Amino acid sequence: MELNDKERLRYSRHLLLKEVQEQGQLKLKNAHMAVVGCGGLGSPALFYLAASGIGTLTFIDDDEVELSNLQRQILYKVSHIGQRKSHAASKVLASLNNSIELNPLCTKLTADNVVVLLKNADIVLDCSDNFETRYLLNSYCLKNKKVLISGAAIATSGQVMCFDFRENGPCYACVFPQSDEVESTNCDNFGVLSPLLGVIGAQQALLAINTILGHHSGCYFASVDGMTLKQNVWQIVKDRQCMVCSAAC
Ligand SMILES: [Zn+2]
Repeated sequence: MELNDKERLRYSRHLLLKEVQEQGQLKLKNAHMAVVGCGGLGSPALFYLAASGIGTLTFIDDDEVELSNLQRQILYKVSHIGQRKSHAASKVLASLNNSIELNPLCTKLTADNVVVLLKNADIVLDCSDNFETRYLLNSYCLKNKKVLISGAAIATSGQVMCFDFRENGPCYACVFPQSDEVESTNCDNFGVLSPLLGVIGAQQALLAINTILGHHSGCYFASVDGMTLKQNVWQIVKDRQCMVCSAAC
């Protein structure tokens, strides 16, 4: 398989990079990524993945667009208010890149449907805003040996993490052990600085693309301070006592 002339022109700034070239762009074209949550993180992530030429994008959200979303969920416009996010997102992404396959799903991800909905995805981007979905995606990706790229942002700080279960690496619960005491914190009750979501969502897209290109950064955790712009990065170590991934070994 090779790129056609239009694709060579569209992706010409990728093709110039020794880290991508035509072979890398073809890998992106053959990739299938799933984005769970089409909100503040999912919006920039989906924009960059679609623009970059990821061949198939599955994206999942059961919410409708509201006025208060427009402060940060950059996929949506005033005219989308009241529409399903997944459908509105699909229209916007199709107008950006009509040569990729878009698979919008308007449903809530649950333990009952996760296997069916995500089975064809190579990489899963967790752009959700709740721990229930984060632990569900962690268990699913662990069991199915997929790469999970998790993002979160609240108030003025954000985090991005990459878990590579192809290599029996650490899991989300090694970093955030499951507990009944985990608070439900999200943007609805704590607020969030709008562009910080762009920083985190774009980093999730970048990690996903680098993984497909083979420039993988391992099991990675970065924290971003939205006020100082400082970013701390470190490798995640497996917790041998982890109730989720140690039990699965
Ligand atoms: Zn673990």
